[in-house]
Amino acid sequence: MEIPPETVARLEQENQDHRCPGGPESCVRIHAIAKLPTRFGGYQVVAFQNDWDHREHAAFVHGNVVDAKEVPVRIHSECLTGDAIGSLRCDCRDQLIDSLERIGKMERGVVLYLRQEGRGIGFVNKIRAYELQDAGYDTVQANEMLGFNPDERDYAIAAHMLHSLHIPSVRVMTNNPDKIEDLKRHGVDVVGRIPLIIPPNAYDRPYLITKQRRLGHLLDLEQEEESPPDESAPDGGPSHREAPGPSG
Ligand SMILES: [Zn+2]
Ligand SMILES: [Zn+2]
Repeated sequence: MEIPPETVARLEQENQDHRCPGGPESCVRIHAIAKLPTRFGGYQVVAFQNDWDHREHAAFVHGNVVDAKEVPVRIHSECLTGDAIGSLRCDCRDQLIDSLERIGKMERGVVLYLRQEGRGIGFVNKIRAYELQDAGYDTVQANEMLGFNPDERDYAIAAHMLHSLHIPSVRVMTNNPDKIEDLKRHGVDVVGRIPLIIPPNAYDRPYLITKQRRLGHLLDLEQEEESPPDESAPDGGPSHREAPGPSG
C-alpha cells in the first residue's frame, strides 16, 4: 500500500501554483513524488521546496497517508555530522534510523526531514558550538554564547508539509513536549505521542542529560546512570570535556 498514482497526480496538480497568501516564511509546495525502496521498507519520497528561499525539504512516506487520520509522524531536523557521518556527539542518526525502521513496519507513517541544520542555527554555527563544547561548555551554554536560543527550529514548515499531504491528525514520535506544542500552535491536530528511546552512548550521554534537564525532554535517563552526572555542570562553569553538541 502506498500513495496511489492518481493521488500522486492530484497532489502534484494542486501544488503546481501553490503560494500561501501569508508570504514566504513558511510556505512549501510539493514538486515531485517518487518510489523509494529502502533498507527500512517501502517508502515514497515527497520533494518539497520553499519557492522564496529555495530551501528543500523531504517527506519519507510509508503507506498511503493521504487523508488518513492519526498518522504516526517523526519530524527530523537535518544533521550532517550525525545522519551522514555517524557522529557520536548526538543521537540524530539513531533516532532517524529507529523512526524509519519502526514506521517501515507500521501500516503507515511519515518521516519529515527538515533542512535546518543544528536546530536551525546552521552548519557553521553548529560547529562553532561544538568548538565551545570542546572547551567545556554544555549545549545550551554554547548556543547562548553564540546568541541563539536553545532551540531555534520552527515547526511551521512541518505543519505545512502535513497539510500539503492532507494528513488531518497525527501521533508524533518524539520525546520533546515543546515539539507537540509548537505543532499545535501551527494548527496540527496532535492526538498522541509515540516515545522514541535510544540508549545513550559514551559521548552523547551528557548531551542527552542536558536535553532532559534543560530542554524538558522526556528521556528517563537518570535511573540508568551508573554514576551521577556532574552536578556542577549545568549552571556553573564548564562541564564534561567531551560534552557533545547541538543536534539537528
Ligand atoms: Zn503554502
Ligand atoms: Zn545531530
